[in-house]
This record gives sequence, structure tokens and C-alpha cells, in this order.
Amino acid sequence: MQYINSLEYAKEQDNLDKISYLRDHFHIPKDKNGKDWLYFTGNSLGLQPKSTQKYIQQELDDWANYGVEGHFEAKNPWLNYHEFLTENMAKIVGAKPTEVVVMNTLTTNLHLLMVSFYRPTKTKYKIVIESDAFPSDRYAVQSQLKFHGFSENDVIEWKPRKGEVLLKIEDLEKIVSEHGDEIALLLIGGVNYFTGQFLDLKRIAEIGHSKKCVVGIDLAHGAGNIEPNLHDSGIDFAAWCTYKYLNSGPGSLSGLFVHEKHAKNNDLPRFAGWWNHNKETRFNMRQPFDVMEGAEGWQLSNPPILSMAAIKASLDMFETVGMKALTRKSQKLTGYFEFLINQIDSEDIKIITPKNAKERGCQLSIQVKNTDKSLHKKLTENNIITDWREPNVIRCAPVPLYNSFEDVFQMVLILKKLL
Ligand SMILES: *Cc1c(COP(=O)(O)O)cnc(C)c1O
Repeated sequence: MQYINSLEYAKEQDNLDKISYLRDHFHIPKDKNGKDWLYFTGNSLGLQPKSTQKYIQQELDDWANYGVEGHFEAKNPWLNYHEFLTENMAKIVGAKPTEVVVMNTLTTNLHLLMVSFYRPTKTKYKIVIESDAFPSDRYAVQSQLKFHGFSENDVIEWKPRKGEVLLKIEDLEKIVSEHGDEIALLLIGGVNYFTGQFLDLKRIAEIGHSKKCVVGIDLAHGAGNIEPNLHDSGIDFAAWCTYKYLNSGPGSLSGLFVHEKHAKNNDLPRFAGWWNHNKETRFNMRQPFDVMEGAEGWQLSNPPILSMAAIKASLDMFETVGMKALTRKSQKLTGYFEFLINQIDSEDIKIITPKNAKERGCQLSIQVKNTDKSLHKKLTENNIITDWREPNVIRCAPVPLYNSFEDVFQMVLILKKLL
């Protein structure tokens, strides 16, 4: 790809971009003078689609007009509302609809999945995570170990090599070949939240399964960002949130994937509630528990419709564009961002995210030496919204749904001035 470092070029790319119209489908926060922020934190909280309000209003109206009858009478009947999300969500993560459900929040789902899939024995009980795992995942794993009577030190960390930041699959291979007999579970971030590294899920599944370890993936930074092909990867389970790249609002619900090979396994221990009971007889209220097949068999409660309405608004938009078109733009836009950063003539700035477009999504993590958080503050004062991580990394995500080539150009122009 031949890029050019000029505003004219950036504007021309926006003109050529077949999905640039989507930016108008979002609320872009603005400064006091009405100028759009340069928003690069869709990896933390995605922006609000303009359609979200209408979707939520629909449910508020139906609630006002029908009360409890809305479960059947609402335009989108609440009783099986979660089913409206399943097919589109499954496409986004490359799964079969029966393998996916939307419910609860992410960390809660990780725990529920570990109830079923972390089944330690006296000798095979350790859990592998990345050394730079997201804190919530680490806490979840440590508390599961303790819950089962082990020590929080029974975590094995998959670490980058000395002096490096990215993970090497051969190092995971080595951990599993040496310690696999003691390892019950690998729980790995499919796209690392810090470096933006997109790992080879199929390889991870093969490595784990070669020593009979269960393989789970946290896809918080992957869903809506990259194409993880969850079904074909062969991993056992996954979970992700919907407020990052899936633009469904602060604290919104989580997606959950259980591979179809476990769909009918009634022997898996699991927690139960009325919502994973067979839906044909659920309202008889008397039957002994009869678990549903597939991912729905992990639900507990009747779902929060208002939050799901926001997810539906977002997924309907993803469905009109498709992950293929988004990924195509994403690679180009991120490539342009990388090109511009690399044009900055300074020893102090370095991108730690993989260079290979197949090993990353849209996030670039930029390491800036000889600076401190004041740089992040100055960026913010210039209406550039990024994410700072101590001691010296700025995480930026140009999101193909709403960021433009011009956004990226302006961002790097200002960054260069501030350095
Ligand atoms: C964002 C994120 C979380 C947050 O979990 P919640 O339960 O939704 O608060 C957890 N893990 C990872 C890897 C994340 O990126």
C-alpha cells in the first residue's frame, strides 16, 4: 500500500471510502466551538449510533402502552428478545447462531463459563493467562483458583521474551508441552487490550487441546474489530463485552460463545435459572430443571430489554455493512495511521502493536519515550481522545465505522507538534 502524507490525500481516501457515510450515523462528541473531537477510544467505549435512541424509545413506548403484555404484544416481543440479537452477533464472531447468546456482563460470564469449563483435579488445575491480561480476567481466574481450594499463584503466565512486548505462540507451546499435565485451562485475550496483538486462536486451541486443556478466549477487544472465526478456531468458549467496538453503550451486556461440540453435554456442571430451562415448558413453573441446548443453556435470568435494544441498534448496523467491508477499511485506515506515525522523525516514538495487519485490529499502541502523562493531557486539550497507560503508552483505535482518514491525519499532525 502506497500512502501519502498530505491532507489532500487523506480527504481523497475519505471520498473513495465506500462506507464513509456511516460516520453520519453516529453522534460524534464536539468541542465548545462545535468541532468534532478526534475520537480514538472506540476500543474503550464505542460511540453512540443515532438509531439507538429510536430503538430504546420503541421499548419504552411498548412498556408504557402494554405493561406486562409487552412480553407478547411489543413490536419486538420481549419474551424472546435476546433471539433478535443472536444471528447478527454470531456473524460478527464467526459462530453458528446456536453457539452464541447475549446475556449478563463480561466478567460475570467468564465466571459462569468457568463454572462449567474450569474443572480442576488434584493434579491438573493450573490456569494459563497472558502476563499482561486485563486485570478483571486475572482477578476472575485467581478467584476461581481460590474457590476450588488452590492458590492464586497457580496461574501460569504466558510472557513476552525479555526486552520484547509481543507474545510468541512458540512460548505458549513450550509452556503447554512442559506443564500441560498440570494445566486445566487456558484463558487468553484474543486481542490483547494493551498491545492490540491479535493471536492465532486456532493455534491456541490446538496447543491447549494437545494436552487436554480447555481453551477459553476473552474477545472484548476482538468482537466487532477483527474476524475471529470462533467456530472454526475450535476453542471451547469465549465471552466479550458490547460497549467497546460493538457500540452498545456504557456497561452493556456481554456476548457468550460455547462451541457446538459442548451443545448437548448435559454433564457439564453449570448454574441454573429459569432462563436456561427448556423454553417450551419454562412457564409451567413446576417441571424439574430441563436444560436448553447450546449457548442459551448458560442463561439464568430474563434479559434487560433496554440494554438489548441498544445492542440491537448496533448489530443491525453491523449487519448492513458486514465485517468484510469493515475489516477492509480498518486495515487501510490503521495502515495509514501507522505510516504517518512512522514518518515522525523521532527516536522517542515507537509502535508496539504488530506490523502484520493479520496480527492486529484497528488499535495501535504507541510508546513514547521521554514523556509523561502530560502528553496525554495535551492531546485531550486538543480534542484528541486517546487512552494513556503508564508508564508511556498511548492506545489509539481508528474505528472504521466512524473514524476517517482525515481524523488520522489531523491526529498525527498535532501529536507531532506536541512531541
Ligand atoms: C473491557 C474488558 C473487561 C471488562 O469487563 P466487564 O465485566 O464488562 O466490566 C474485561 N476483560 C477484558 C479483556 C476487557 O477488555
